[in-house]
Parts: sequence; C-alpha cells; structure tokens
Amino acid sequence: MTAQRRTGYIWHERYAWHDTGTHVGIAPSGGFNQPHMTFESAESKSRMAGLVEVSGMIDELIRLKPRLASREDLLRVHDADYVDRIERDSAARGGDGGDGFTPFGPGSYDIARLAAGGTIAAAEAVLAGTVDNAYALVRPPGHHARRDTGMGYCLFANVCVAIEYMREKLGVSRVAIVDYDVHHGNGAESIYWNDRDVLTVSLHQDRLFPLDTGSVTASGGDGAEGTNINIPLPAGSGNGAYQAAIERVAVPAVTSFRPDVILVSSGFDPSAVDPLGCMTVTSGGFKDMAAALVTLAGNVCEGRIVFSHEGGYSPVHVPFCGLAVLEALTGHETGVPDPFAQSFDSSPAHVLKPWQDEVIAQAALIADALRL
Ligand code: ZN
Repeated sequence: MTAQRRTGYIWHERYAWHDTGTHVGIAPSGGFNQPHMTFESAESKSRMAGLVEVSGMIDELIRLKPRLASREDLLRVHDADYVDRIERDSAARGGDGGDGFTPFGPGSYDIARLAAGGTIAAAEAVLAGTVDNAYALVRPPGHHARRDTGMGYCLFANVCVAIEYMREKLGVSRVAIVDYDVHHGNGAESIYWNDRDVLTVSLHQDRLFPLDTGSVTASGGDGAEGTNINIPLPAGSGNGAYQAAIERVAVPAVTSFRPDVILVSSGFDPSAVDPLGCMTVTSGGFKDMAAALVTLAGNVCEGRIVFSHEGGYSPVHVPFCGLAVLEALTGHETGVPDPFAQSFDSSPAHVLKPWQDEVIAQAALIADALRL
C-alpha cells in the first residue's frame, strides 16, 4: 500500500553513540546505587529505528539527511558561554549539561549539534514542500534545555533552534509547539516566555520534572500572555485524558493562533510502561494524538508539522509507540501488532476521570480568556 502523505524521516546511527554513561536510572552510581544504565540511553531510540526498518515503514518514508547545526544556529537560542563549555568538555572527557542530570561523553557536542541540525533539516524539508510532514528521530532530546544551561538529559533546545532558523532564514513568523512528553516543556517555555509569536502548549504529568514549573496558571510574560499553555495532568492519566487535552485545549488554541508551522515535542514517556512517568498512554493513544495534530496542521497551516523526538525510556515499548505515530503521519498502516496492547488497551485508566477533566477544563478556560 502506498503512503498517503510524504513523510520525511531523520535518523543517524551517531545519535546512538551519545554516551550518557552509567547511572542508576536518574541518580549517579555510588554508595548504595549499583551502577546501571542511564534511563536516557540509546536503546529506546535505536530500537525504534530498528522497528521502522523491519516493519517496512522505512519504505514509506523519505529519508532526510541530518546536518550539524552551526555555532550560529545554536547562538540564536543559547548563550555563547554555555555553547563554549559544552564544546570544551566534549573535546575532553565529557561532562554534564549543568543540572547533574545531563551527563554526556566525549564527542557529544557534535552529536547534540546533529540532533538540533536534524530537526532543522526536517523543518526545512517541510517548509520547502519536498515532504508533507516529518519525524526527526534525534538524540539527545531538547525540550528541557534553557538558553544558558542543559537540563534533564537535554543539551541544546532542538525544536527552538529549528524555529529560530526558520524565522531567520525561511520567512516563518508564527510557530506553535505542542509537547506531549510526560515532563514539562520548561525549556521552550522559558525561551519563548516573552515572545508572542510562539505559542507553547505542554501536556505533562503534574509536578514530575521540573518540580517547580508547568503550573496551569503560567501563561506567558508581559505582552505574551496567553501564548504559554500548561496542562499539568494528574499521575495515572490515560488515553482519554490526553485526547481530551489535545481536543479541548491544544486544537482550539493552535487554531486561533494560526501558526505558519507546528512543531511537536514527541516524547513517549507517557507510555504505560515508562520507568520515569506514571501515565498509561498506549501506542494507540499516541497514534490518536498524532492524527489529531496532523489534522490540525491540515486545517491551520497547510499540513506543515514537524515532530522532534524527546523522551521515552522504555526500550521495549517506545518502538511501537513511535511506529504508531509514523502511521498517523504517513497514513500507512504497517499491520505490526503492539505486543503491549493486550495488557493495557482495555485498562479503565483510559476513561477520562473527573479530576483529570477538572485540570483540562481549567487550562481551556485560561487559554480561552487570554486568547490573543
Ligand atoms: Zn520526558
């Protein structure tokens, strides 16, 4: 069967070579913490790339070539001191992005530039019309990185670097970001806090990470009120809550904002089997969200939508969630069954609960009241 849409796809083996060392999931090894992998390891991403090939999805995609984001590209978003430090530490033995949760090994400066540049390449292809939409399977992720520091496994703000490239070079002026990673998209929020031309919408687990950001009342700085929307969903939220948040908050907000292009921070850590989140989203839930966002892009910005990979730490489930999203982007069904469907698809967790509905209603109310 031929794909209905031309979907660009970015992956490079070098992304898997970003070395985050040994940790105990999120904590450093040592003392009583027996060394193990960092949750942010290559596994979930390289296995997703593997399933994209083995499922035959790769034949329905248009491979795009990632490139290294230049220093100039990075400096549109990040402080020079920060970029210089990452470059210096990377040339030595590696280091940390800045918060103690962002370890990186030798050579990660270039890999992080390839992640930001991969998102740029995906955006460029969508803007040029050589593809209808695109998925950049990049690593390290980016949505926690702030102007002056890395954070939460993120070194450079991949989505923001791509947005600033588009705004400077490709005639784009208004952009919407929708972030369904289980953690708050605090990096993009901080970078665009005072920018009324970038709408940021984050669905995340309430008070997970970072602990002190992501409140429903944080709606944008002076002159940009209403361009930052947080939907802090309670732990335990499933497909029903996520779909309701997309339909009742993200879709009307983005529709009225009328962006030139939509960027999606695509994290699969709301998965039912993720070690870092406490949500219960299934591959079908991710597919429904992606389909709603593709339809939204078709309605507001001629279909221009770019997904950039963020978190997602279940090596066994992320590949199926990622494949489901690619099915939504391409319109091509692989027929590959998700082995976790039998465990989670029928869970009562997917029914929208009153305490989830309350948060979504509050976010919708704030977004409506402040709509520009
Ligand atoms: Zn995350």
